[in-house]
Amino acid sequence: MRNKPIAPWGRFPTCEGVETFPETPRAAAFPAGRFLVRGLARSYGDACVQRRVLSSRKWKRLLAFDQKKGLLTCEAGLSLAEILEYAVPQGWFLPVTPGTKWVSLGGAIASDVHGKNHHAAGSFSRHVAEIELLLPSGEVLRTSPKRRPEVFAATCGGMGLTGVIRSATLKLEKIETAYLSQSVYRAENLAELMALIEARGGEPFTVAWLDVNASGKSMGRGHLITGHWASARELEKAGIPREKWLSVHRPPKFKLPWTLPNFVASLANAVGWKWASWVYHRLPRKYASPSLVHYDPFFYPLDFIDDWNRAYGENGFLQWQCVLPREKSAEGVRLILETCQKAGLHSFVTVLKLFGKGNGYPLSFPMEGYILCLDFNRTERLFPVLDRLDEIVVARGGRIYLAKDARMSARTFAKGYPGLPAFRKIKKALDPEGRLASLQAERLGLVTRRGP
Ligand SMILES: Cc1cc2nc3c(=O)[nH]c(=O)nc-3n(C[C@H](O)[C@H](O)[C@H](O)COP(=O)(O)OP(=O)(O)OC[C@H]3O[C@@H](n4cnc5c(N)ncnc54)[C@H](O)[C@@H]3O)c2cc1C
Repeated sequence: MRNKPIAPWGRFPTCEGVETFPETPRAAAFPAGRFLVRGLARSYGDACVQRRVLSSRKWKRLLAFDQKKGLLTCEAGLSLAEILEYAVPQGWFLPVTPGTKWVSLGGAIASDVHGKNHHAAGSFSRHVAEIELLLPSGEVLRTSPKRRPEVFAATCGGMGLTGVIRSATLKLEKIETAYLSQSVYRAENLAELMALIEARGGEPFTVAWLDVNASGKSMGRGHLITGHWASARELEKAGIPREKWLSVHRPPKFKLPWTLPNFVASLANAVGWKWASWVYHRLPRKYASPSLVHYDPFFYPLDFIDDWNRAYGENGFLQWQCVLPREKSAEGVRLILETCQKAGLHSFVTVLKLFGKGNGYPLSFPMEGYILCLDFNRTERLFPVLDRLDEIVVARGGRIYLAKDARMSARTFAKGYPGLPAFRKIKKALDPEGRLASLQAERLGLVTRRGP
């Protein structure tokens, strides 16, 4: 087996290593020593990087589907896209979905991912009925919110550190159509945008896109997008042909065939943020809404270009995502935006969203409050600024999302995740030698730096 670069979505950090692709979870032979299991490597940083990796990419069997209850049992390597291909024509959808459908079921559970409906539906694990977990010892456990609940809680959001998820049962949501009724609102500054988000919180799906470059009175201006599932009657009224009512997504329209050279990526970024700001400024104040939108552009606007991460060049990029407690959010978000502007950092894609209550699982990210998500080209001057942003967040009782992280310190991590001691206890019980670990887990002190 030859070494190859093991990379995450943000292409930083990488290491040389060996990735094996067992045909089924049962055929998965653990490598000697330390290793990690991973799915589609959509984590932005080193949560999915290790020198020895076991890939779940071939674990794609659908094991059972209860049509009445919408309970789907499948192997952990099945992507959310593949689940949708099976479920949507039968009138079912994912109860919670992240901003890309190219995520494996195992990866969605291990990161306890959230979507545009966190305030209404919680995170992914709320809808997981059971998990089959293979421990490094070879023992197989079945865990659920009622059966070994401490193992379930540590596995949901546990970043693959408690065991290998072989399969899981997920409760799907019934839909009448594959379309959403979408409304768009414009806000002139942060206070207006947050007021809009609060006022429209009754909608099942909400997300705001923010112009991170606007300053002064316009700081934090942006657009709020809300939506709810459209009924068959609405589609009929709009003249959408019946055969499209439960249509599934199409393959990506474009593919970036190569990684852009660094200087082209930097130039594109420099022009890109100015262009994005210009576009924001000219978007209409009032929208003719609501409009009917298929689930693919509504939930997965970035999926229409395959491998778009290559646009950030060989140096790669970092996504920084935090959550701030609700009462500290307005002041915290403003300070973060000001810090970025003073440092001359420009984020191309910037998302603001209000979360509902968290589930209290030790490493699960969501807590009640606002999340802010920023994308940056990787440059040397970026790192000290991100350290300052971390300080702003933890000083206000917030935390950084592990699935997006590539560089936070062990101290920032410990401050943001009060469930860490409970997680360590379970990790020790399930994996006493610390065999399952990512480079992130080593960096954050979840295991010793030198593996067994
Ligand atoms: C464009 C884009 C948009 C995104 N939007 C969102 C969003 O809106 N909300 C959100 O929450 N996240 C979002 N993400 C992050 C993404 O949902 C998570 O990183 C997710 O975990 C990726 O799944 P994966 O299959 O690629 O897992 P990987 O990146 O391969 O692995 C992620 C973690 O899961 C563990 N893992 C994977 N498979 C298993 C298994 N079978 N058993 C045990 N552990 C396992 C790995 O060890 C690793 O720690 C986004 C990512 C991208 C690229």
